[in-house]
Parts: sequence; structure tokens; C-alpha cells
Amino acid sequence: MIAAVVMLAVACSGGLQPADGGLKAAATQYEVYAIRYATLPDFPVAGLVGDDKSDRKLDIAMMVWLIRGGGHNILFDAGFYRPQFFKTWKVHDFVRPDEAVARLGVKPDEITDVILSHAHWDHADGTDLFPKAQVWIQKDEYAYYTADAWQPGGKHGGIDPEDVDVFLKANIGGRLHLVNGDQEILPGIRVYIGGKHTWQSQYVSVATRSGTVVLASDNMYLYENLEKHAPIAQTFDRESNLRAQDRMKAIATKPELIVPGHDPAVLTRFPKVAAGVVRID
Ligand SMILES: [Zn+2]
Repeated sequence: MIAAVVMLAVACSGGLQPADGGLKAAATQYEVYAIRYATLPDFPVAGLVGDDKSDRKLDIAMMVWLIRGGGHNILFDAGFYRPQFFKTWKVHDFVRPDEAVARLGVKPDEITDVILSHAHWDHADGTDLFPKAQVWIQKDEYAYYTADAWQPGGKHGGIDPEDVDVFLKANIGGRLHLVNGDQEILPGIRVYIGGKHTWQSQYVSVATRSGTVVLASDNMYLYENLEKHAPIAQTFDRESNLRAQDRMKAIATKPELIVPGHDPAVLTRFPKVAAGVVRID
């Protein structure tokens, strides 16, 4: 009760001035960059676009996304670098993700946050290249891939045991944040559950000067998914993936600001600011 009286007094003492003195805090706006760190050549499009029966191949882009603003350098996905992946996959034009990010003048220690869209090797493996970062992952994704995925009947395709170890270490080190569904995790940055690419994948929306940008990661592999209203080929639930893509259209200020996870056209549709780097704008 005393607190209420004091608050009333403070509110009245400024006369017609609002409580913040008339300086309405500007909403945080961010700069968003797509950074290409590798290419997987001749990737079958049928492995990306649901129901595609063609034999088309595409040199797909391997990307991480840097979000800068509000005192944060946030990386959405962290790419890969461990040697085992170069034995199983043909990788071209590789630059280690931390070195690719450095093209924008950001050192690994300056990455404040890593938001993981999902636990697959090509998105999560680079997490420990950024040792100071707070790591954000969906709680159900973390729970599944650190436990049930490795039990009889569990599914862990695309999940590397060493990456699971990195998640555990981030958790033990007090740097892991478990996100429960749709949530604003920083001012102007929201994550949304993403249509079952993995157990509980997520995508992110970011407030920018051009409006709300959606970074889909693998919840939408290619522009073609959105254009044909085709689910991604790798999902536990195609209907939920289509719902996620529909929702991205409602969230983004315009469809052009929805950024797919592996489409090389991202690098040509936006202005280039450095080698392999475009600004989503
Ligand atoms: Zn994936």
C-alpha cells in the first residue's frame, strides 16, 4: 500500500510529463547478416523439397546468421568444423564459421549469444567456437537429444555425439538457456517452434529497420518450399512444417524478409557487404 502511494506521488510530481520524462525508449533494432561459410555441392533437391520427384541437384549454401544490436552480437546457428564431417560429406569453399564471422569485424569472444535452430551437426557443431556465448535452444530439443534419442527406438540422425557433449558442457557452465516454446528471448528477438524438422526445432524473428525479418533455418530449406507451399523433405510432421511456414508469412513484414536455411539465392537477393556476406535488408 505504501508503495502504491509513493508511485502515485511520483506520477503526479511530473505534471503533464509522462513518467519517462517524454523520452520514449526507441525499440531495439538489429542488423542481420547471412554469412556463407561453405557449400555442399550437388545436393539433391528431392532431399529438401517434400514431394519433389525430380533429379535436380543444387550447390547448397551453408550459412550462419549474425544479428547485431542492443549491445549484443547474436549468432543464429553456428555451422560446423569438426573433422569427421569432412569425411562423410563433400564440402567446398569452407571457411571456419568463426573466421567467416570475423569478416564482419566480430571476434569469437565478442559473440554474446548463440541461438540454435536445432541440434543437427551442420548448425550446432560450431557452438564451442564461441566460448563466451549464452546458448539458446528449445528445452524439448535439448531434453530429447541428450536422453531419449539415444535409447532404443530413439532417433538421432544428424546429431553428433560430440555436439551433445558441447550442449552438456554449456549447461554445466551456466551458459545454456532452455526456451519453452514461443518466446521473446531478447528485446525484439523472438523464437518460435518450427515444424518438427528435428524433435523441437525453432526459428527466429528479428526487428530491423526494414521491418520484421524471419530467419527460418532448416524449417524452410529453400525459397521453393515457400513458393510451392511444399514442406521440407526432412520433417517428423509435414503438416506442422507447413503451418510453421504459413506463420512465418504472418510474422515477417513482407515475404522477401523470410530467409531460408540453405538456399544459395540468399547470397544474391540481398546486398553484399563482404566476401560471402549479405545484409538482410
Ligand atoms: Zn537440419
